[in-house]
Amino acid sequence: MPIPIAGRLLGKVFLIGAGPGDPELITLKAARVLGYADVVLVDDLVHREILLHVRADARVIHVGKRGGCRSTPQDFIERLMVSHARAGSIVARLKGGDPFVFGRGGEEIEALETAGIPYEAISGVTAGIAAPAMLGIPVTHRDVARSVTLVTGHASDGASPDWKALRAAATTLVIYMGMKRVAPLVEEMLAAGFPGDTPACAIQNGTLATQEHAVTTLAELPAAIARARLASPAILVVGEVVRRARAASAVERAA
Ligand code: SAH
Repeated sequence: MPIPIAGRLLGKVFLIGAGPGDPELITLKAARVLGYADVVLVDDLVHREILLHVRADARVIHVGKRGGCRSTPQDFIERLMVSHARAGSIVARLKGGDPFVFGRGGEEIEALETAGIPYEAISGVTAGIAAPAMLGIPVTHRDVARSVTLVTGHASDGASPDWKALRAAATTLVIYMGMKRVAPLVEEMLAAGFPGDTPACAIQNGTLATQEHAVTTLAELPAAIARARLASPAILVVGEVVRRARAASAVERAA
């Protein structure tokens, strides 16, 4: 049983979205909580400047693939959160983008609930909306795209999205984690009835100074990605809204 410190018996876990890349795209609330957290568990894709908000004497643990040796197993991360909170610490679990958009935030709160640990989620700006915005692409647009669907190109069970249903929905598609499988994804989409000339783009390192992109059509997407030498992390956007992409020269980039 932890000793009550300033009336605090049990710690708390904050699941925090760090935003898509540009360190200025973090919320004021996230920055404030980072300023008093005792332990900070940091994922890949979190800009190192975000850590400037962290208290100087806080313990920072990198739990992403690039931070340590290999990817830290999910259950180990969950155990870390629980044990530090049980010891009375304020734990900040810092994730790229939004913690609940392909961020395993849902699994983490289940673990916290099971362990009886108080938690709070702090939303972040998700890459799938911020990266297209940098090119002037609105993910919804009156008359052109009345909905947007966030899709993973890499489901843990290997199953593909229901492309036929998505085609029928005439929604903007924002595909996360699609770079490794871009050719088969495009093939599946064409087979499901998406016209080959549907506007499409790939945006790598969205909102960062290193942002690169290729605007093309669905059929040409894999070739355009190869030509532009784009790699992960990148977002794929498919739909009429991509026509609104402005020229790279007009894009103001983060320093
Ligand atoms: N929770 C995150 C997504 C994590 S999944 C969010 O809300 O943004 C990781 C995937 O996100 C990557 O494979 C890539 O598809 C996308 N991604 C993350 N950061 C990105 C960035 N700066 N530019 C483009 N894509 C990015």
